[in-house]
Amino acid sequence: MTNTVLITGTSSGIGLSTAGYFADRGWNVVAAQRKPEQESVLARRANVLVSRLDVADLASIEEAIAEGVQRFGTIDALVNNAGYGQMGLFEALETEQIQQQFAVNVFGVMAVTRALLPLFRRQRHGVIVNVSSGAGLFTLPMISMYCASKFALEGFSEALSYELAAVGVGVKLVIPHGGVTDTRFVERQSDTMAENRELIDYVPFIEKTRQAFAAMGKARTISALDVAQVIYQAATDGTPQLRYLIGDDSRGFIRARRELSEEDYISFMRTKFQ
Ligand code: NAP
Repeated sequence: MTNTVLITGTSSGIGLSTAGYFADRGWNVVAAQRKPEQESVLARRANVLVSRLDVADLASIEEAIAEGVQRFGTIDALVNNAGYGQMGLFEALETEQIQQQFAVNVFGVMAVTRALLPLFRRQRHGVIVNVSSGAGLFTLPMISMYCASKFALEGFSEALSYELAAVGVGVKLVIPHGGVTDTRFVERQSDTMAENRELIDYVPFIEKTRQAFAAMGKARTISALDVAQVIYQAATDGTPQLRYLIGDDSRGFIRARRELSEEDYISFMRTKFQ
């Protein structure tokens, strides 16, 4: 029997590559997007249904799931991929920017998951792959809301995995880190950059932080297709493995988080931004 996956955020980047990757392997794909009328590549494929879904709009989530079930019979896997990174000093952010970051990266994931869970539980199978980030394991300044949202996603997914194991449903975290090419992530980050020129007390810190980021250099990037392959592996390997890291750790953040004592880790990170 052919399996069906619903993937959010398939208009570009990791979501777009993942939709193509599953479709190439014979899966039926519900490719969920906020503006499906703009999609042309995926819409031409017979085993792909491009559906309108905004993770912050419950009615659109329920409709996309109903359309997917009607077209393909059921849904076997969910990839919660839609997300973006809110940039900027915490104090410079508008309340709406903080709420929107959580509305998409955290409450959006929860809403799509809750809408599909009754089906997964009833059929006693299903797998949920949540796209996290290195920013869910370590934090950096000037992007605190993104880190907070991905830390929340990490904690939520880990706790949920214990509950859903009891009903035969898997939970996976795919964690790209060090930067992914062929995405609109950085471009969208700049679109949401929070600036407040009155906060002059931070100017020396911002300057130093910029220099620190420059000095750290660029980690080797991975492609959206590399991430798609790992998402596919996570969805299909049938193991209880929770976390799948993919990326370059040349800056040593993940190693430091995992191997150093709490005290040494915080001091390793702080020295970079002092
Ligand atoms: P991307 O090219 O900007 O794609 C993000 C996708 O999320 C787009 O399809 C976007 O749709 C969608 N989206 C945003 N808000 C949405 C909403 N309210 N409802 C539905 N869809 C929404 O960036 P990407 O890198 O592929 O991002 C995918 C995931 O990877 C994100 O969760 C991100 O945090 C994670 N990630 C990315 C990187 C990286 O370096 N690129 C690294 C680690 C983790 P619209 O076109 O409608 O805005």
